Amino acid sequence: MSEYVITAPAAPSVAVAGSQARFPVRRVFCVGRNYAAHAREMGSDPNREPPFFFTKPADAVVPASGAVPYPPATQDLHHEIELVVALGGGGSNVDPANALDLVWGYGVGIDLTRRDLQAVAKDSGRPWDMAKGFDASAPCSALHPVSAVGHPADARIWLEVNGELKQEGNLNEMIWPVADVIASLSRLVTLAPGDLIYSGTPSGVAALKPGDRVRGGVDGVEVFELQIA
Ligand code: MN
Repeated sequence: MSEYVITAPAAPSVAVAGSQARFPVRRVFCVGRNYAAHAREMGSDPNREPPFFFTKPADAVVPASGAVPYPPATQDLHHEIELVVALGGGGSNVDPANALDLVWGYGVGIDLTRRDLQAVAKDSGRPWDMAKGFDASAPCSALHPVSAVGHPADARIWLEVNGELKQEGNLNEMIWPVADVIASLSRLVTLAPGDLIYSGTPSGVAALKPGDRVRGGVDGVEVFELQIA
């Protein structure tokens, strides 16, 4: 039996609703610009651009409850409410017609973004990692299995800050529905059980500040509430 030279880091995981069991996180993928109105608010033409992806570290996933830290090195931390897809299967070059068979369940999360660092990265052609993949940048609600919630495709997705509605859309506005996202991503990397996909955000992204109370949800899936510390 092999030993590690340092204590092995804990395996990141997400709570499963109504269960003591947890969902182990392997990788975290995120879709850029998957709702037309958000693409427009970020200055892009939603009709011209195919989906693109970025990643966050697996240990950026934290519970979307309690206190979530305000990160260092930013003056412009943005919320992006997203449907989170949890894969129980994997593969490469997945046919869109079979892609939903890979899904174990769904949750709701926030793709927290240091928008000021992202703007610098965009302007200078540098990577987005430090804008998107910082510590605790991927709060995620408890997950619900497909057996409980099906494959939500026509449901309101929304986020409130201090009781004020900031983001509201419908999953049916996704430019690339979940099956297409999975199929497209599987042509770039081999997907595997434990992968999470943050599937893009509707319009209305805005800045958060310490002390803000954030509620978000996808109707029929989950509602979460957290506070920015
Ligand atoms: Mn996002």
